[in-house]
Amino acid sequence: MRQLIIAGNWKLNAPEIKDYVSKLSAAPDGVRIVIFPPFTYISEMARYPEVIERQNKMKIEVGAQDVSERDSGAYTGEVSAAMLRAAGAGYALIGHSERRRYHGETDGAVQRKVKRALDAGLRPMICVGETESERAGGETLRVISAQITAALDGLSPEEISLVAAAYEPVWAIGTGVSASPIDAQNACRAVRGAIGARFGAVSAELPVLYGGSMNSANAAELLAQLDIDGGLIGSASLDAPQFCEIIKIAAELAASEES
Ligand code: PEP
Repeated sequence: MRQLIIAGNWKLNAPEIKDYVSKLSAAPDGVRIVIFPPFTYISEMARYPEVIERQNKMKIEVGAQDVSERDSGAYTGEVSAAMLRAAGAGYALIGHSERRRYHGETDGAVQRKVKRALDAGLRPMICVGETESERAGGETLRVISAQITAALDGLSPEEISLVAAAYEPVWAIGTGVSASPIDAQNACRAVRGAIGARFGAVSAELPVLYGGSMNSANAAELLAQLDIDGGLIGSASLDAPQFCEIIKIAAELAASEES
């Protein structure tokens, strides 16, 4: 049975945490939930009894939106993987297109962050995606395959088994325009294929999520695709009822696939 992951990336936003957590705790079982709040909310979120209870059942985790590529030193503003782990993070989002675009994050930096996260016990969720012009130039599959291959460079098969990937076309993020289910499926299959070409069979088990304007209206069609193992959701994750609705859609899909 596929284990679907529904992840919320809050970016530089924070809903009222206590209220959000209590609404989220009522979401149905059967789906792995990961919330990426801003750094300063990680420890607060990770300590709510509802989160701990679900976390113990491996169904909800808290993650960081970024991680430093350094362990310590004179790097003002950075937060290390070990610090994030100690704060209660279980995941780290790495290589989000907003980090690549506004903070000049290169494939090399993404690869170093992935390694640091794994060394500290964080599961990396690695974002890849093409820009509008790369898409128009027919470059999508080449770009995302190159990004994921670079991000995973030097990892052992054991480390790869702890990784999740998220295909997030840059033109779909925050625009209200998602990729079509078939395009998203083809891209997620290409991400899995690139991992398989380098690391073999482990790629079949590795979660590949789709992100980019996923919401409660389009989630069912996107999540039904064979190579889409969940959603990485920005705007719609800020609204707890809508986010719970997407979790419900995923839970029903997982249950129907099982029967
Ligand atoms: C994201 O930021 O990862 C994202 C997918 O945002 P949105 O859902 O708002 O497009």
